[in-house]
Amino acid sequence: MQNTIENNVYDVLIIGGGAAGLTAAIYASRAELSTLVLSGQPSGGQLMLTTDVENFPGFPEGILGPILIENLRKQAERFGTKSVEQNVIKLEGSFETGFKATTYSGAVYEGKTIILAMDASAKWLGLDSEQKLIGRGVSSCATCDGYFFKDKVIAVVGGGDAAMEEATYLTKFASKVYVLVRGRKEDLRCSKIMQHRAFSNHKIEFIFSTEVVEVFGEQKVEGIKVIEKTSGEEKAMNDVSGLFVAIGHRPNTKFLEGVIELRSQGYIRVLDCTRTSKEGVFVAGDVGDSKYRQAVSAAGFGCMAALDVAKYLSEKQG
Ligand code: NDP
Repeated sequence: MQNTIENNVYDVLIIGGGAAGLTAAIYASRAELSTLVLSGQPSGGQLMLTTDVENFPGFPEGILGPILIENLRKQAERFGTKSVEQNVIKLEGSFETGFKATTYSGAVYEGKTIILAMDASAKWLGLDSEQKLIGRGVSSCATCDGYFFKDKVIAVVGGGDAAMEEATYLTKFASKVYVLVRGRKEDLRCSKIMQHRAFSNHKIEFIFSTEVVEVFGEQKVEGIKVIEKTSGEEKAMNDVSGLFVAIGHRPNTKFLEGVIELRSQGYIRVLDCTRTSKEGVFVAGDVGDSKYRQAVSAAGFGCMAALDVAKYLSEKQG
């Protein structure tokens, strides 16, 4: 593959075009830093998989996730942000030499600083019927979508802390929450305190050794089919109208291994506000935050990263 190098050296390259990356771009370009967003493909992050976003401040009627991303993108472009929809596969360099980001197509973009805002993708079960209904009853975020399931029956998949937390939160709205765990009760991965909280919630029913094999419905979830692993028996659960998959997140940081310091499970180690272990490289959004994972917290993180970059550049360049 022949690499093509762009002439421009940007003040900041922002890798990732979701809520964090685009908010960083708005702030960076308004600070008159030349800014390029390498937004990946498909671009827009997890909000592109969401329908109504009702908890992003400033939208009393809610806003569709993809529209929110489009608005953020236009807002950044208004102040001069450029963007390219390509996945970065390699990052090299330093503040002294300049950074180079190489994309899948072989294009190389140069920047004085970097903001890493690649998001952390929710892991999915991988069923076609599940993928088709994401945003229409299939979700990976109870805080985002729980409200839509008032007095409905929900199934949560997973046996870790996230699943316990999601299930417990969802009982605020749902009439009943099934927690479907693929392993046995004694193999539950969640902490004892979260487990106890979920076990003692009368709205939650655990079903062990069980996997989801199909999600019913065309426009919305109209039930699920599960298999009991030891007996192989299949069962339809037609009362379920929401499926929350809580089986972990995967931060999109594979290309950073050996480049900057990562935490367990691939999240970026955040040292001081938004700084990373490498000078001139900053972080924003879910890729550095395994805890809050909200559109608004990602956006706030993006704002912080851009302000830190602007300060860093003015200190370095005088
Ligand atoms: P975990 O990796 O801890 O748990 C994932 C769960 O999903 C496991 O039960 C796993 O089952 C199950 N799973 C994985 N793949 C599948 C699949 N294909 N089908 C069905 N089930 C599957 O992830 P979490 O997101 O729960 O937690 C990640 C980290 O974040 C942990 O360190 C956790 O403690 C922390 N966290 C803390 C919270 C808190 O303290 N409030 C809240 C949320 C997360 P199996 O065990 O069989 O592999």
